[in-house]
Amino acid sequence: MSDQILTQLAAEASRLSGLGFLACTAGNVSCLLGNSPFMVGMSPSGVDKGQLKATDFIRIDGNARPLPPDQRKPSDEALLHVRIYQAVGCQAVCHGHPAHAVAMSMAAGPNLVVSGIEMQKAFAGISTHEGEQRIPIVENSQDMEELSNRVMTARHPQIPAVLVRGHGVYAWGNSVKEASRHLETVEWLARIVWLCRTAGIP
Ligand SMILES: [Zn+2]
Repeated sequence: MSDQILTQLAAEASRLSGLGFLACTAGNVSCLLGNSPFMVGMSPSGVDKGQLKATDFIRIDGNARPLPPDQRKPSDEALLHVRIYQAVGCQAVCHGHPAHAVAMSMAAGPNLVVSGIEMQKAFAGISTHEGEQRIPIVENSQDMEELSNRVMTARHPQIPAVLVRGHGVYAWGNSVKEASRHLETVEWLARIVWLCRTAGIP
């Protein structure tokens, strides 16, 4: 079962890489492999995420440490993934640096506000383009406990993603495909807002 979900995770990482979201070996993906004991399959540090195989994922514990005898190094951001599982109860987390989302995260304010866009429905549980959705933006930090606290404090119950200013997007979901779709949704919405602003459309 875990091999199956890790193969699916590798395929989604390859797809996200193809979209340019995981450029320069950046970004990372993970999925929950067990809750008792807690275990996550985490992408390794510093490798091209478009080329991953199921065996490349590192099994980590609730403190983002590799489970013995594995001594490989998980992504630097593994602890934030773990904290998201522990707080949200999701099945998968995808993190990338898609260009429009990163650009829009540089705007002032605590949220990227979107309204009236059909693609808002690509977030699980949202069934209409009507109304306003706010994707939280938190300040970046290299301290993963600090960044985790900021993400957990800022997250909105209806929105399965958070933007980190000047950095990227963390998105989660109840399956690998759902987490991946939520990452893509944030980039698509940011792209629409970007295009509207550059075209002078309020
Ligand atoms: Zn990152």
